[in-house]
Amino acid sequence: MATKQSSGMRKVLIVSLVAIVIGFVVGILIGRFATCPSVDSRNGVFLPGISDRLITDGDPAISDVLINEVKNTNIEQYLRELSSRPHLAGTPVDLQQAEDLKQFWLDAGFDDVKLASYDVLLSAPDPNHPNFIRLLDGHDNVVYESPAKEANLTGEDQPDVVPPFNAYSAPGKITNNDLVYVNYGRVEDYNFLENNASLTVNGKIVLVRYGKIFRGSKVQIAERHGALGIIMFSDPADYTWPAEDTRVYPQTWWLPPSGAQRGTTFVGSGDPLTPNYPALDTAYRYSKDTVVPSLPKIPAHPIGYGIAEKLLREMAGQEVPPEWRGGINITYRFGSKFKNPAWKIQMDISTNDVMRKAVNVIGIIRGAVEPDRYIMFGNHRDAWVYGAIDPSSGTAVMKEVSRVLAVKVKSGKWRPRRSIMFCSWGAEEYGLVGSTEWVQHYIKNLRERAVAYLNIDIAVQGNYTLRATGTPLLIRAMFDATKKVPNPNESEKAAGRPSVYDTWFKNIPWKDKNKKPLGIPKVGSLGSGSDYAPLLQKSGVTGIDFRYTYNTDKYKISSYPLYHSVYETFYAVKNLMDKQFKYHQAVARVGVELTRNLADSLIIPFNVSDYAWQLEEYRQTLDADYGSVLRAKISTYDKLQEVIANFSKEVEAFNTRVANLNRNDPMAIRMVNDQLTLLEKAFLDPQGLPDRPTKKHIIFAENSNDAYAGSSFPGLVDILFEIDKHTNMSARWEQAKLHFSVILYIIDAAAATLRDVTGFVQE
Ligand SMILES: [Zn+2]
Repeated sequence: MATKQSSGMRKVLIVSLVAIVIGFVVGILIGRFATCPSVDSRNGVFLPGISDRLITDGDPAISDVLINEVKNTNIEQYLRELSSRPHLAGTPVDLQQAEDLKQFWLDAGFDDVKLASYDVLLSAPDPNHPNFIRLLDGHDNVVYESPAKEANLTGEDQPDVVPPFNAYSAPGKITNNDLVYVNYGRVEDYNFLENNASLTVNGKIVLVRYGKIFRGSKVQIAERHGALGIIMFSDPADYTWPAEDTRVYPQTWWLPPSGAQRGTTFVGSGDPLTPNYPALDTAYRYSKDTVVPSLPKIPAHPIGYGIAEKLLREMAGQEVPPEWRGGINITYRFGSKFKNPAWKIQMDISTNDVMRKAVNVIGIIRGAVEPDRYIMFGNHRDAWVYGAIDPSSGTAVMKEVSRVLAVKVKSGKWRPRRSIMFCSWGAEEYGLVGSTEWVQHYIKNLRERAVAYLNIDIAVQGNYTLRATGTPLLIRAMFDATKKVPNPNESEKAAGRPSVYDTWFKNIPWKDKNKKPLGIPKVGSLGSGSDYAPLLQKSGVTGIDFRYTYNTDKYKISSYPLYHSVYETFYAVKNLMDKQFKYHQAVARVGVELTRNLADSLIIPFNVSDYAWQLEEYRQTLDADYGSVLRAKISTYDKLQEVIANFSKEVEAFNTRVANLNRNDPMAIRMVNDQLTLLEKAFLDPQGLPDRPTKKHIIFAENSNDAYAGSSFPGLVDILFEIDKHTNMSARWEQAKLHFSVILYIIDAAAATLRDVTGFVQE
């Protein structure tokens, strides 16, 4: 008995010990995940307790609650305040808006808000000597001088408006007998000029219209062709709609003659003086002449079509072909001489360097279960002038998204599984300066912990449809969010399209390259037009940008008409674009739901299958454009199809593993989520793209002859661009072969990240 008893006692002891050990291990696990202890367990409305939370999916019931909480009247009020004064990057009003936003977030219930500030090289015209374009006669008398400012068309006071300028233009006063019109200033336009009009621009000033490609690319191309200066104008054909309505702002949203498009001409991103590294106090700063990528060495200046008409009217030379004609009622001619050959063109440009602060505001709502995993939501704050569309429509929407989420957290009834980080970026307009410096500063953290980045630059530039550009992983989550958001357009609803998704699908259906409909709305690929670019290209954070837009099939305009002019006002938004702020509200609702889904779902809602078919689609496009030449030159060319097919198989196996996952095992869940987060990062090549070391994503980057447009296999397409004209063609082909081998390797390496624990090494 005694023996038996003691053996029974031993059993009890062992069982107790085991229980203690298990309890201890579980305690460690809970401790590991619950670094924000008892926040949710205090209040049991949605969450029974933190240990259950490790394995419970986000409560979808909260989704409608949050969507309904978004108020259009709030967004209107925020926008009215934000756009009441010009808030150019680094100016006192911009810095005040940063402080105000910090306070707003703290009041709303954020857990922490920090200002991340960098001293950076920006650019501005001399306030005492604005920029002028002049026509001089043979005796250097001024026969025409452009107005220093855009016309005041609404009559109210306009303090602090920066006159039209192109950031990072070289300063200077140049006078020349030759002015050449080069259409949109693209590579093909210069080729046409040389081949068909026998004109070169070397030693001359060029006049080009805005549109088709990024203005920084226009300056770069002009400089490469030896131009001494570049004047860029907004042609009515690209910024008005005379066929429908000849009225302009303030009667309509069409650009008036004096409207000029400000904008940067820097083709890099971040502070130009501290490439690759954050602009900290201790940072090494290059001199302006030695920095790479280089800043423009020629003066560049933007004008409206009212001024352009004065110049074009006086130009002589051959008449341009129909495709080069714009919408001004004159005969467009190439130049280069004036009708009176003694006349001259003069650019008097004071635009010069200024050191200013790029201030980012970073606010956080801590995740309840995985606080070290971040869902990021960002928008830039700086504007060229009032910025009521770009970016303050986005800032107003971000404020409402953040308020709705923070208020619910503050109430104690909900807290997301992962942390939500809101980012208000400084100095975006100069070249994604604030976001780039910050990504460079915190790249180690972002590479390990950032899950996804949602970007709103402009929230509303029309009321026709939602538009999104993003990485494949996020498109299904975007579809799901837009299906939940009520259609802001009553006639669309009446036509049987109740959601934002329905109108999007109807207006921008995705078709493959054979025009076969795919049954989903189109999501374009990411260029480098906003702050998602440094996050994707440097830290591999998957991203999406979204907004409401106008009908781009109907209006063949280059951007919304008032873009970067003094006329981007609250008046324009309220009276001409979104009277009740219903479209702003819809964008905010999409933002709220997408953020909630990403931050709160047990398994991160990334659809890996979409990466597989999109890779194959990119391959087919590459094949259609360059297949025959690539097959002739690169012996491994057909391997591309093979590695993509293999990637597809790995995706299927991964999806099966996720479907059969033990959802009671928090570590298994974390493991799968880490694989999902790492996939995008796996497509980065640490060496960067050929000749573009700061762009590291081998599947998407901007087209290097047009920084706005996204391109797939950008490194390869870049090398192949006009390869037959290259001075050292065989060296160029060696570069193509090298990069092609990198593409094969990287897709394979990305597939390996989807394999399970033991299986990633293949014999
Ligand atoms: Zn913007």
